[in-house]
This record gives sequence, structure tokens and C-alpha cells, in this order.
Amino acid sequence: MISYWHASIGHAPLADDGLPAEARVAVVGGGVHGASAALWLARAGLAPLLIERAGPAAGASGHNGGLLVSGLAEGYPAAVARFGREAARAIYALTLEGYGLMGDIVREESIDCDLRLTGNLSLALGEEGLDAARQTAALLREDGLPAELLDRRAVEGLVGAPLGAEILALNAWSGDLLPDLAGMITPVRGQALSTGPLPPMLPGGFGVSLTPTGEYGQQALDGRVIFGGFRAVAPGRDVGVREPGGSPEVQAALDEGLARIFPSLAGAPVELRWSSTMGFSPDYLPIADAVPGLPGAWFSGGFSGHGMPYAAILSRLLAEAAASGAAPAALAPFRLSRL
Ligand SMILES: Cc1cc2nc3c(=O)[nH]c(=O)nc-3n(C[C@H](O)[C@H](O)[C@H](O)COP(=O)(O)OP(=O)(O)OC[C@H]3O[C@@H](n4cnc5c(N)ncnc54)[C@H](O)[C@@H]3O)c2cc1C
Repeated sequence: MISYWHASIGHAPLADDGLPAEARVAVVGGGVHGASAALWLARAGLAPLLIERAGPAAGASGHNGGLLVSGLAEGYPAAVARFGREAARAIYALTLEGYGLMGDIVREESIDCDLRLTGNLSLALGEEGLDAARQTAALLREDGLPAELLDRRAVEGLVGAPLGAEILALNAWSGDLLPDLAGMITPVRGQALSTGPLPPMLPGGFGVSLTPTGEYGQQALDGRVIFGGFRAVAPGRDVGVREPGGSPEVQAALDEGLARIFPSLAGAPVELRWSSTMGFSPDYLPIADAVPGLPGAWFSGGFSGHGMPYAAILSRLLAEAAASGAAPAALAPFRLSRL
């Protein structure tokens, strides 16, 4: 099962040069977080050694929806209720910083990719969804965070396609090497598909809740539409599932769901279907801290399906921690002690 992202870059074989006898700093895992951590360490002059068992972005990072969405995995009101207003606001602001930082990295490192910092649409279904969107937007704005509420016509103008009638307007392997985290980071399989090239219609990413576990998508610059979600219809709901491979129930729901949101996409040819494993934490907030009982070792994981905006910023904080031996203050909300 090749993802859109791997298909679009081809498969670069990994050179197996053996491991050097020693390294001052090692980063284990070559996903977006490990790669970003290695970048920050290299910029700090620490010549990191990156160890990856399969290949660049072999895990969730190369098989995701590609959406860089600022904010917490849970909606803002739920995060305010769980963490308190000040903490939720500060974490949200940190993800906005991570969002911008990703753009800086792509520019500064001259990375040839299709990064678009266009913001994201959260599609509301029905009156209930619209009420929740109103509440979220109001709370975000009160806290000085950017949010705009669009009506159906504005959304249709933005996406360049009619919406379905029901729509009104809105790490997983940590436990292998760190047994203390085995019970804290739950593997959850996520599945997605991509269509063949289609005329331009979606300016950026979107999220929508057709099921409680949520759906999301975007149109890539080559016109292919990427769509994922529907974990809720999987037998066992894909919680605890680490094996790659999709389930027919989820893939059928993806086909049906895409046509439901965008009727003009009904019957669009699907070229690729894929899955990978996310890591969920108990409170859906990433965990980033020193490894218990292993002096000098730091880890992050449990991005709960929203690791992209955290990648650049949390890895930078961890690189600082690894270099100085102490956790920077900004890591406070993500530390293990909260669990
Ligand atoms: C279908 C799907 C859709 C998603 N959509 C989005 C989205 O649109 N936006 C978003 O923000 N997030 C999304 N996510 C989540 C996002 O992809 C993750 O949060 C993010 O990629 C986590 O990055 P990571 O580097 O921590 O983990 P990973 O990318 O999983 O990297 C872990 C790496 O560690 C390697 N590894 C494992 N064990 C070892 C070992 N013993 N030794 C060496 N290497 C090892 C693996 O091979 C892997 O490459 C999605 C996830 C999935 C599965």
C-alpha cells in the first residue's frame, strides 16, 4: 500500500552504511518529528545520528493526510474544559508557532515540496455542528486566536464546488523501546485514499465530522484529492491496530463520505489507498519529556492524529533539552507528570 506522498516522491532506498561506533546525540525514528529534531540539533552544531528502521517517513509521517492544522486534537472548547483556559490558549498559540516554523524550515532549507500555509476549513454539519462552530470561533477570538466563521455560500465560493445537502457550513511505536510508555501511547490505525487528478476546487485542507472520529482532506497541487478518516466504522475501530493494511469497511466509507460532502466527486477514480499508525495519548495532547530512568534521553509521541503542527516546534524544544540537559519551560504542558 503506497501512500500519495511516497508515490509522489518515488522510493529513495536507504543507504545502509552500518552504525558509527559512537555519536554525541542520536535521534531514533525518521518521521517528521525525528527529522525535525535532527535538523535543530544539526543547526546547533551537534552532528546528530538519525537511526530509522525502515526508511524516511516510513510511519505515520509518510502516510497521513498532509494537513498542517494548528490547534489541539480536541476542539478548543473541549481543550479549555480539560486543561483550563490559560493552558489551552498557550498550547494553541504554540501550535500556531509550529505552523509558521514549518514554513520557515521549508524556505530556509530550500525543501522542494508543495507546502501551502492557507489555513484550514472545519466544516459544520447540521445545526448542532454549526452551534459548536460558533462557540469555538467565539472562544478562540476571545482568546486572541484567529478564527473566522463562514456561511455556506462563502464556503462554496471558497471550495469552488457545491456542498452535500446535509452540510450547512465546518506515535505509535514508542512502547517498543520505552516500555514505560507502552500503556500511555495507544497505536491507532488511520486510513486514507487519493483520487486521480481532478480540476482545481479545494484551496486548502478541510476537516469535517461525518463520524465521531472525524474526517479530513485536501486537494494536492497536482489535482488529486486526498481524503481520510472513518475510523469509527472499522471493526474494533482500529484502536490498538499496528498492522498496515486497510479495512474494506473504512475504505468503502471513505468512498461514500467523499461523495456525500462533495457530490461532484461521486465516482471519481481512486488511485491509491493506504494506512499507517498514529499514537494516541490519554488526553490527546502530545507527550514530550525526559525518558524515565534513561539519563540524557528525551522522547515525544502521542500526537493523537495531529502531529504535523507540533513537529517543528516540539522537536526544537527537545533538541534544546538534549543539548542543555534540562526541559525548556515551554515543554511544561507536554510532560509525563500530568498523566
Ligand atoms: C492516515 C493518517 C492521516 C493523518 N493525517 C494527519 C494530518 O492531516 N495532519 C496531521 O497533523 N497529522 C496527521 N496524522 C498524524 C501524523 O502523521 C503524525 O502525528 C506524525 O506523522 C507523527 O510523526 P512522528 O515522526 O512522531 O511519527 P512517525 O512518522 O510514525 O515516525 C516514527 C518512525 O519511527 C520508526 N521506527 C519505529 N520503531 C523504530 C526502531 N525501533 N528503530 C528505528 N526506527 C523506528 C518508524 O519506521 C517511523 O518512520 C495522520 C496519520 C495517519 C496514519
